[in-house]
Amino acid sequence: MSKFTIINPTTEKPVKDIELADLAATDLVIAKAEKAFHTWRKVNPGDRARLLRSFAAIVDSHIEELAQLEVLNSGHTIGNARWEAGNVRDVLNYYSAAPERLFGKQIPVPNGIDITFKEPLGVIGIIVPWNFPMPIAGWGFGPALAAGNTVVLKPAEITPMTAIRLGELAIMAGIPEGVFNIIPGKGSLVGERFVTNPLVRKIVFTGSTTVGKGIMRGCADQVKRLTLELGGKSANIIFADSDIQKAAANAPGAVFDNAGQDCCARSRLLVQRSVFDKFMAEFETAVKKFRVEDPALESAEMGPLVSATQLARVQEYLPPGTPIAFQGTKPEGPGYWFAPTVLLPKDASDRAYREEIFGPVVSVLPFEDEADAIRIANDSEYGLSGSIWSRDIGRAIRVSRAVEAGNLSVNSNSSVRYWTPFGGYKQSGLGRELGPDALDAFTEVKNVFFDTQE
Ligand code: NAP
Ligand code: MG
Repeated sequence: MSKFTIINPTTEKPVKDIELADLAATDLVIAKAEKAFHTWRKVNPGDRARLLRSFAAIVDSHIEELAQLEVLNSGHTIGNARWEAGNVRDVLNYYSAAPERLFGKQIPVPNGIDITFKEPLGVIGIIVPWNFPMPIAGWGFGPALAAGNTVVLKPAEITPMTAIRLGELAIMAGIPEGVFNIIPGKGSLVGERFVTNPLVRKIVFTGSTTVGKGIMRGCADQVKRLTLELGGKSANIIFADSDIQKAAANAPGAVFDNAGQDCCARSRLLVQRSVFDKFMAEFETAVKKFRVEDPALESAEMGPLVSATQLARVQEYLPPGTPIAFQGTKPEGPGYWFAPTVLLPKDASDRAYREEIFGPVVSVLPFEDEADAIRIANDSEYGLSGSIWSRDIGRAIRVSRAVEAGNLSVNSNSSVRYWTPFGGYKQSGLGRELGPDALDAFTEVKNVFFDTQE
């Protein structure tokens, strides 16, 4: 077994060594999860529901501890980290209602009765990225466990601390051994093994589009079920008829939240030309006020980037000569800090405008009218999220129907509500998480015909 030293992104100091699983250890845990599946699937629906509710209650009583771990490991602001831990609790509570409501159908057929069942798949392999270690894990394991599956979960190598703690809390809540397993390790090793080990019946992957495509190819060998949540380059579309002040005041949070390390970040800001200057003046004030500071402070709106590697990746997008309109502030001294940055690209061919940067960088382009806004918004291989700001309800409906993205908000920048489906169009993903539909992703439909003829 090898080790990985976790670095606090705010201080650049080592926090702790984590043991990484090798292939043999990974296979052992997968086998354990497969064994546990045969008993977990048979736990009475009411008992499975109670266990999930007690898991949620234990998470609830550990919100502060989990949040502090995320500040330490990932540099998330304490406010965000508390929301993230609370989201795990909420997702568990939401899906605790599922075991008792996994309805099939009774379909009229000649000569008998026909019933469908929603059967669990078996062991689910969840591969989590470093940007939202808690919520992204919960969106997988909540519905997966509720539907009667067992789980092996690989956190990102650099951000495993909250996942490891959630694994311990599950045991404290009475979830049986082997049902919910955390396997810290490298993607190229543990993650890859989830794809190749035939005992893993489905992969839930969130991360980069490049790695996601490789996993999709790998899953083809076993026709393994797969959900993908990949990158984004979402548009925040500001129409002249919107509440410009409100849209501008909210635009920094829409892209700089979590230091821009968010697949839903509105990293393309499209502003109608007639209000461009007015909007940009208000936006500049808001960006300069955006509080980038020690994420442990209650007032922090943005912390550092997660790692030195990510800082270098972001910096690479701003070579000398980059058309920077203005920047926010950042602290001096240690930490992987990058100031909120607003770019004015020459046109839509600009690299920083087209590619997912995953840092606090936004590119602004003007548009002429509604048709122009839709054309520019859809000129991307991605289609995850986005916002439309307009007071004209007809326009808001037309544009939200026309933008090719899975999750849109009108006069708001929020993307995630656990009650509603979440996922991407185009190269932003495959399948949906959260909401009532997520259970379909963790079950197979079985059809059984009963001949009733004498
Ligand atoms: P990544 O390489 O796609 O990592 C995501 C997860 O997949 C991690 O747990 C990773 O493990 C694992 N992984 C890596 N290679 C794998 C493989 N061959 N087989 C199975 N699993 C594998 O993402 P990243 O390197 O952390 O970030 C790179 C870029 O991806 C970011 O700059 C951003 O643009 C994008 N990204 C998007 C999201 C999103 O939510 N859509 C999230 C994260 C990153 P290890 O990290 O432990 O090796
Ligand atoms: Mg990687």
